[in-house]
Amino acid sequence: MSVYKTANREMLISFLEKHSGIPFTVKQIVNEITAGAGGEKPSESTVYRLLRELEDDGRVQKTIDPVNREYIYIFEGETSGRVNMRCKVCGNVYAADSETSRRIIADIAGFGEATPDEEIELLIKCKHCREE
Ligand SMILES: [Zn+2]
Repeated sequence: MSVYKTANREMLISFLEKHSGIPFTVKQIVNEITAGAGGEKPSESTVYRLLRELEDDGRVQKTIDPVNREYIYIFEGETSGRVNMRCKVCGNVYAADSETSRRIIADIAGFGEATPDEEIELLIKCKHCREE
C-alpha cells in the first residue's frame, strides 16, 4: 500500500514539475496523469491529499478558478512568473510582488484560452500620473 502511495506521489510531482506555473483542477491532474501513465488512475482523494501536502510545503499554490469557481493548483517551478505594470502615461515600470504576480497569472490562466508566459506586462496609469 505504501509503495502504491509513493508511486502516486512521484507521478504527481513529476507531472507538476513538467507543468510548473500552469494551473490545474484536481480532476484535470487525475486525467492527465492517467493519460500519461497508460491508464493507471490515481484516485482524486489521493491527488487532493498530496496537493495539500505540497501546499503546506509551499510548493503548490491553491487558488480559485474565476470562471468555474473550482479550486485550481499551481506548482511553483524554479522560476515563478513575473508581472510588471507599465504606466501608459510616463512609461515607468512597477514590478508586482510575487504573491500578486501569482494571483494575476492564475487568473489569466483560469480563462482557459491563454497560457501566460513567464513575463506579463500590464498597462496601467500609475499613482503619480493619476494625481495630475
Ligand atoms: Zn505614470
